[in-house]
Amino acid sequence: MRRSLVVGNWKMNGSVVMTDDLLTGLKEGVVRSLSAVDVVVCPPFLYIPLAVQMLAGTAIEVGAQNLDIHKPGAYTGEIAAEMLKEQRCSYVIVGHSERRALYGESSDLVAQKVKAAMAAELKPIICVGETLDERERGDTGRVVREQLMSVLDLNGVDIFPFAVVAYEPVWAIGTGRSASPDQAQEVHALIRESIAELNPVVADQTRLLYGGSVKPENAQGIFSSPDIDGGLIGGAALVASDFLAICASME
Ligand code: PEP
Repeated sequence: MRRSLVVGNWKMNGSVVMTDDLLTGLKEGVVRSLSAVDVVVCPPFLYIPLAVQMLAGTAIEVGAQNLDIHKPGAYTGEIAAEMLKEQRCSYVIVGHSERRALYGESSDLVAQKVKAAMAAELKPIICVGETLDERERGDTGRVVREQLMSVLDLNGVDIFPFAVVAYEPVWAIGTGRSASPDQAQEVHALIRESIAELNPVVADQTRLLYGGSVKPENAQGIFSSPDIDGGLIGGAALVASDFLAICASME
């Protein structure tokens, strides 16, 4: 049985005060009511130490939103996997569509980032997903499979179930327009089949998250699909009551 997983991606939002307020709210809610869901928050790098400190002794884990592929050294402005591990991060988001679109991250680079995360024993949350154009051209399956395969070609299937895949249709991120439960389930089934072609046991144990305009109102419908094991949540992760309501809908 796969445990559910809900991950909050704060993107480039936050402050010390906001981190303190949001995590105080989450801590109370998670301690009170959640037992069957793993919960992770991914603040901007600067707030990771505060988040780790505030969440010590709770079931909520901390992740990062990105990492560099290199070992520590002369890479101005970057953050290495070892540094995230030292700060007690457990997860790292890799290949978010904003990184691919705004910072030119290729699928090759994403695969190398997964490798760097695995080497430091950080669980990568590997984001895949098609643009609206690609969906309308009927290319969703091909695009998602290619993004996944470049990770598998470099890293092998044995990264799973330690690694997690997040299907995030680009057209659904931050737009208020979520994929329907059927649209999401169809792609999740394809992702699981693609992993199963290499190792069916591992595929069955791997957690597949959906991300894209998940809100308390639509969470239950999306999460009730058989191949959807949780969510990667953006906007709604910035409001403690919304994020908690989404987590509760996975129970
Ligand atoms: C995201 O940032 O990965 C995301 C899914 O954002 P939102 O929930 O706001 O669409």
